Amino acid sequence: MHSVTMQGQQQKLAVGKIVCVARNYAEHARELGNPVPDKAVLFIKPASSLLADGGTVVIPAYSSDCHHEIELAVLIGRTGKSIAEADALSHVAGYAVALDLTLRDVQAELKTKGLPWEIAKAFDNSCPLSTFVPESQVPDPQKLKLCLRVNDEVRQDGTTADMLRPVARLISEASHYFTLEAGDILLTGTPSGVGPIRSGDRLEAVIEGVGRLAVAVE
Ligand code: MG
Repeated sequence: MHSVTMQGQQQKLAVGKIVCVARNYAEHARELGNPVPDKAVLFIKPASSLLADGGTVVIPAYSSDCHHEIELAVLIGRTGKSIAEADALSHVAGYAVALDLTLRDVQAELKTKGLPWEIAKAFDNSCPLSTFVPESQVPDPQKLKLCLRVNDEVRQDGTTADMLRPVARLISEASHYFTLEAGDILLTGTPSGVGPIRSGDRLEAVIEGVGRLAVAVE
């Protein structure tokens, strides 16, 4: 069983699936030369992709271009299907800082061939994740600053205000396809500034008012 922790709580929470959205910030879509999508581009990471704060990332040997993507993570606390956007935030239990580690070279090849992305996105330790804070501590998930540093150098510096689809809309849209169950996590996309990580790097991801996540690269 893979689990996460909530700040101030002893008991661990079992994680189901991790639903992720691509191209949810216009600047980031542009930097990779992708069109801004009409419908949410969704994919899923399994719970086995989780890596706890303080852990060590091992980049799979079949890639030589692993990218960092800092993202706001949303923990679902109440199960729902086809959730109305107006009701969506009532399904949220908490927020955390996540990285959507991506094997960009592998993904580019899969995209060219029209193949699914899993081996580029859902590999072991591709989802480093901080402790969650209860949703009551985050009055507005669309007013959060995100900052990712590699070896103390700022690489990504953005705000959740720039999401193309805000958290409530993402929950609503994703739950149209997949029942969102208590213990599922939503990754909400990354701002611009993605780039490669290398052996020996230290990554620090901070979302103001939510938390901090630090991992090293083996
Ligand atoms: Mg991403």
